[in-house]
This record gives sequence, C-alpha cells and structure tokens, in this order.
Amino acid sequence: MNPKMLPTLVQLSDHELLERVKRLAEREREATASLIAHLAELDERRLYLAEGYSSLFTYCTQVLHLSEHAAYRRIETARITRRFPVILEMLEKGSVNLTTIGLLTAHLTQENHREVLNAARLKSKRQVEELLARLHPQPPVPSSIRKLPNASHISASPPAQYDDEPSSQLTGQGQEVATQGLSSLALMSPRGRPATVVPLAPERYKVQFTASAETYKKLRLAQDLLRHQIPDGDPAAIFDRALTALLEELAKKKVAATDRPRESRDHVPGSRHIPAEVKRAVWLRDGGRCAFVGPNGRRCTEQGFLEFHHVTPYAVGGQPTLENIQLRCRAHNGYEAELDFGTRNLPVVREQRECYLGPEKSISFEGAETQCNSVRTELGFANLHASAG
Ligand SMILES: [Zn+2]
Repeated sequence: MNPKMLPTLVQLSDHELLERVKRLAEREREATASLIAHLAELDERRLYLAEGYSSLFTYCTQVLHLSEHAAYRRIETARITRRFPVILEMLEKGSVNLTTIGLLTAHLTQENHREVLNAARLKSKRQVEELLARLHPQPPVPSSIRKLPNASHISASPPAQYDDEPSSQLTGQGQEVATQGLSSLALMSPRGRPATVVPLAPERYKVQFTASAETYKKLRLAQDLLRHQIPDGDPAAIFDRALTALLEELAKKKVAATDRPRESRDHVPGSRHIPAEVKRAVWLRDGGRCAFVGPNGRRCTEQGFLEFHHVTPYAVGGQPTLENIQLRCRAHNGYEAELDFGTRNLPVVREQRECYLGPEKSISFEGAETQCNSVRTELGFANLHASAG
C-alpha cells in the first residue's frame, strides 16, 4: 500500500469510510476464496514438488509468505473444498469463515454437508461449537484435579498453540485425550493451559482452568464442609454452588438487587447518586445488556462491564430517574461522554462504574501465581450457562 494513502483517508466522510471498509472486506473475501480454489488445484497437481518444496504447507509459508496459521487454514479449507465446492461460494459471501470451516471439516459428509453448512451460516465460533455438540454429543468428562509440574521444570518455550485451530477441541475425545497423553511439559505454559469452556453436548460443558494452591485449599475445605450434602465432593457441584452464591452477592452489590425492594430513603434531589430501586428497574428494563442503539438501528449486544448512563447528562441537569438512566457498556458510555463533550462542551465526567457479570465471557479465572503449587482442575458439569446467564 502506498504510505501516502493514510493522510488521504482523513478526508473521507464517516459514511464513505464505512462503505469503503465494507467493500474492501468483500474484496478480501473474494481474494481468499479465489486463493483457496487455486491452492486446491495446485495441491491436486502437486506442483510444489517440482518447485523444490516437500509440501504445500512449506510452499505456502516459504513462497507465498503466509504465516503458519494462515497456511494451515487455507490448505485445510482447500482440501475440504474439493469435496464440497459450495464452501467457496459461502466463503466469498462471508456466510462462513475459515474458522467455521476448520471446526466443521471433520464432521461434513456428502449427506449432511448442505444442512450443516447452512446451520453454521453467520454463526460465531462458540455457536458453531454448540452446533457440533448437538450433532455429536460427547460423553461428560469426569471431574478431576491434577497437580501440575513444578514451574522450574517447565520449558520456557511457549507451548504449541492449537487452541484456536479447527476441531482441536471438538473432535474432542480422541484428540483431547491424545493431547493429555503427551508430556505435560510440552503443553504447559508457565501459567498453565489457558482456561477453556467447551460444549460437549447440549447443556453440558467441559470447563478447565488452572487454580492456585490457595484456590485448591478452598475447594478441599468446601468439600469437607459440604460432605453431608455433596458426599462425593464433586467439584462441579461445588463450583455451581459457589457461582450461585457469587452471582447473588454480585447482584446485590452491583444491581442493588434485594429480595425486598424498598424505596430509597436517602435520595437527595439533584444528587448524582442513582437510587437502588432505579438501578434495579433500569437493569431489568434493559435486560442486563448495553442499551446503546446506533443511528442504523442496531442495538449493542454487550453484557459485560455495564455502567449506568445518564441520557441527559448529569452536568446539564439530567436526573437519576428510570427515564433518564440506561445501561451502557464501557465503550459506549465513553463514546457518548465524548459526543456530549464535543457537542455540549461539557466537562468529561465518567459515568458511575457499575460492572455486572455477563454470561460466560466475563468470567475469567486467574492462572496460578504460585506455579510450583498450581493444580489443574477439570470440571465436567452441566448447565453452566443456565447458572451464569
Ligand atoms: Zn455497548
């Protein structure tokens, strides 16, 4: 690209810029689909051999200068495309992407491919994983707790990262077991494996994360204290109870939820303080989701890190009432503050920060700080989404 292009873009209107980006993305998809079709033919003729390369992968990385990841994805797609050419058309239209094809590859047959591809149309990676879990339910994984190797024995080089690779988790059982059978040294980063949540079957998920020694002690203690209610000490059941308690506590704190809502006694007219009953009502009305609606009519779908937003800013007399308060994600709250700042010349005041726990994406498990004592916990349990959502 001509480096002089950047300064010229400043002159585009917002509309022109948005339209141009859409067109460019379309052209990129067309180019990718076309490259994949040509790679499929090159692969068939095995032209890379005569060119002095042992594989199409080497050819792609060394001659075409694709990253290993990009080469892997394109070759995999090129090969499946020979069996199901309809994929090319879908890639070009953007109704499926390379990640989706990677996830589906092992599951497509002559009989089902149209139906499965159609069901995966415009779906996110998570949704495609759920689709596959419905197609091929996996048996629940047993709960397990394992001590990880001492950090000093862990190779400093980063582990082979195939988490994002197609079907590495979902072809599931075989591959996952094979992975676990390898030397754990090769698999563990110094902080342990990244936390994963993988759908196994409808309503069943495998959750895996690395816990610190402290967390492990808490789990053991909870197992002891709950022995009469959860005799087998199943971590999945304990985890569910812990999350239920946590969500109740968070709801009380963040959403000002209570079993017995009462009128707030301490609201002072003109105060910036948002009364608890207003917060509750706003949260319920907005469905625990950012209520920003763009000029194109699209409402934001963010459910994590929500904040209370004054529609008419507090600085110009906006009141903390149900009518004037809405939920916003952090990005949209900041965006609107900037708009207000620009158009009304107000001092930028951050809205009051109130964070909620959205569905799974806001749940994060910290890896072990004390690696030498870290313990990997694997929980196979049902209805995580029902509990969290
Ligand atoms: Zn938003």
